[in-house]
Amino acid sequence: MKYCPECGTKLVMKRNGIDGMVPYCPHCQQFRFIKFSSAISAIIFNPQRDKVLLLQQYGNPHYILLSGYINPGENAKEALKREITEETKLPIAKYEYNDNAYFAGHDVLIHNYAVLADSDNVQANNEIDKYNWIPVNQVIDTIMPNSLAQSFAKEWFNKKHLI
Ligand SMILES: [Zn+2]
Repeated sequence: MKYCPECGTKLVMKRNGIDGMVPYCPHCQQFRFIKFSSAISAIIFNPQRDKVLLLQQYGNPHYILLSGYINPGENAKEALKREITEETKLPIAKYEYNDNAYFAGHDVLIHNYAVLADSDNVQANNEIDKYNWIPVNQVIDTIMPNSLAQSFAKEWFNKKHLI
């Protein structure tokens, strides 16, 4: 962000307490914090807890986790439930927060949850090209290499517990 989104004046960097140097509009005399999006992603386990749902989307041949943006006014848990319902219609037995990471490519902070589904009957919507229930011990090798999805899955399995 180089210019003030309100008045178009060129921003300068100015110290703002513990936040350090922050873009500042000398005309509006206000700090202009950089905005970014938030999203959720989900490691969805089948009821037997021995498989995880992986997806292929938007023509991409790599397997990823279910994910979606958090809408304005929504919290992460609400977005998690809405996205799972919209994309798969799977009922949720329970869920637990796992980890979060910033994806610089899309300027989005992603909150990852582990989710236990109450059924394995996926009714995929048209955002999903293909899906598979992958055995737990094959998930890390099947998921897109070096992706945030893979690092979330590693983090969860390193905790050595299933949901
Ligand atoms: Zn301004």
